[in-house]
Amino acid sequence: MDQEKIGKFIASQRKEKGLTQAKLAERLGISDRAVSKWETGRSMPDSSIMLELCVIIGLTVNDLLTGWKTTMENYKDIAEKTLIEMRRSEERSNRAMLNMEIIIGLISTAALLVLLLTAKYADLSGAWQTGLIITGFVIFIPGMYFCLRIETTAGYYECAECGHRYVPTLTAITFSPHMGRTTRMKCPKCGKKNWQKKVITTER
Ligand SMILES: [Zn+2]
Repeated sequence: MDQEKIGKFIASQRKEKGLTQAKLAERLGISDRAVSKWETGRSMPDSSIMLELCVIIGLTVNDLLTGWKTTMENYKDIAEKTLIEMRRSEERSNRAMLNMEIIIGLISTAALLVLLLTAKYADLSGAWQTGLIITGFVIFIPGMYFCLRIETTAGYYECAECGHRYVPTLTAITFSPHMGRTTRMKCPKCGKKNWQKKVITTER
């Protein structure tokens, strides 16, 4: 039974007893707005007045409690589903970021190489050569910075020693040796230095 059904149930029981919302509210010592909220399924009666409500509208406590319990279970279900969905969406965005890192890395490296090779082999004046080399690094350095930022913040690193999953500092990522998606770093938990692999979530 969902909250809306419980509300309708309360309403029909109240009418059967010939009570208005205001009368019921008065007998329970609450506002008629509260009664209206239950009946439209926007809220549930507080447990402190549940018993009294049941007595007044001639509902068995069991009926109401069964509905109440099922509703609570629904809430738990919804909360769990939301958590799973949040985790999935984190995974998706981490994957997208890591793909973006590869693209930015490739483009900025390619741009640097093309500009450096042009400066070296094309028949250009000294000023043009300097200009091309500077432009190459102006593209490459921010590109690398973005890559390192993504490498640090998207997903987690897993310690090969103790299995601890964590987000390293940008400094640790910048000054550690990389090999594909693994980085040799010191684990903040066990303090051991090892090759740690990139993982998408903290879930195993
Ligand atoms: Zn460790």
